[in-house]
Amino acid sequence: MQEFFTESSQKLQEFNDFLALPKKIVITTHQNPDADALGSSLGLAAYLKKKGHFPTVITPTDYPDFLRWMSGEKEVINFESDKQELSKTLISEADIIFCLDFSALNRIKHMEEFVKNSTAKKVLIDHHQQPENFADFVYWSEKSAATCELIYELIEKLGDKDLIDMPLAECLYAGLVTDTGSFRFDSTTQEVHRIAGELIAMGIQTNQIHRKIFDSNTFERMKFLGFALGEKLVYLPEYNVSYMAISKEDLAKFSSKNGDTEGIVNYGLSIKGVVMAAIFTERDDMIRISFRSVDNFSVSEFSRKHFNGGGHKNAAGGRSHETLEKTVEYFLTLLPQYQQSLTGLDY
Ligand code: 5GP
Ligand code: MN
Repeated sequence: MQEFFTESSQKLQEFNDFLALPKKIVITTHQNPDADALGSSLGLAAYLKKKGHFPTVITPTDYPDFLRWMSGEKEVINFESDKQELSKTLISEADIIFCLDFSALNRIKHMEEFVKNSTAKKVLIDHHQQPENFADFVYWSEKSAATCELIYELIEKLGDKDLIDMPLAECLYAGLVTDTGSFRFDSTTQEVHRIAGELIAMGIQTNQIHRKIFDSNTFERMKFLGFALGEKLVYLPEYNVSYMAISKEDLAKFSSKNGDTEGIVNYGLSIKGVVMAAIFTERDDMIRISFRSVDNFSVSEFSRKHFNGGGHKNAAGGRSHETLEKTVEYFLTLLPQYQQSLTGLDY
């Protein structure tokens, strides 16, 4: 039975009581972790350590180099490394498994079956649409801009704001800044700015954090971006849609790594009038798709319905097990039925 403790002080108290004695804890997050995923995991781990617990962060896959500055990052275990056996032991012996920044268990790739089979209590802390029913405790809000925002609020509600030190604040700020698109998406509320303001008041260097995340491109990645925009970007003004399809060969040509395609989809959305942008990337085992949109066009609904995915209204992901060409073809056949909602926006 899942207990939502987002709004209920009684449930929050139960959660607090549950954490009264030191616990063996695993914290995990979605595959290909981004700054919100890793920042919230490391922020929570740092907090739990201060409370006397024994947390380990285990990620389903590796994450990009531009996140390798976060405090505690060196202790993160990648499930897809030679530490898989250790990970399995930690998962099966854990008292609690925190699941951060994802709402569907298939987002943790090969960790899914081990997390499912563990007898640990599961705690979901997340802001994605339609959370699956797998956790014992759920701290969830679709309105929150970032999981880092939820972690800050939770620590605050537990009366432990004084435990947030600079390294922890940096982790949380990183998630806030990325998931809000540097404080420009619709999700950027007054509450987001309040929390950012309080983190800044602790003395964090926001410009430095921003540079570490956004201005740490390799030369190859910049060349790849030029190639993607120059050769691969397709614009369909009749639908207000833009997309790119990137093959394995394209990635190899620029010695591109996972993470290099991250964010490129946003360039498609920056064309005036574009309502939905997509990027299709050929990976070893599937075609990964990222969708972005503006206003009321819900790419999470679109992705859930057609590409086995989900996410947020304006930022979602999905997958296909067809070829790259067939996936794009299928995408194009879908557009006519959405033409009205894609072109009917008044802006
Ligand atoms: P991205 O395109 O950056 O990979 O993902 C955009 C947003 O959608 C992120 O918040 C991400 O966590 C979420 N997302 C990506 N893929 C999936 C998916 O397959 N299912 C669900 N539920 N969410 C996804
Ligand atoms: Mn997030």
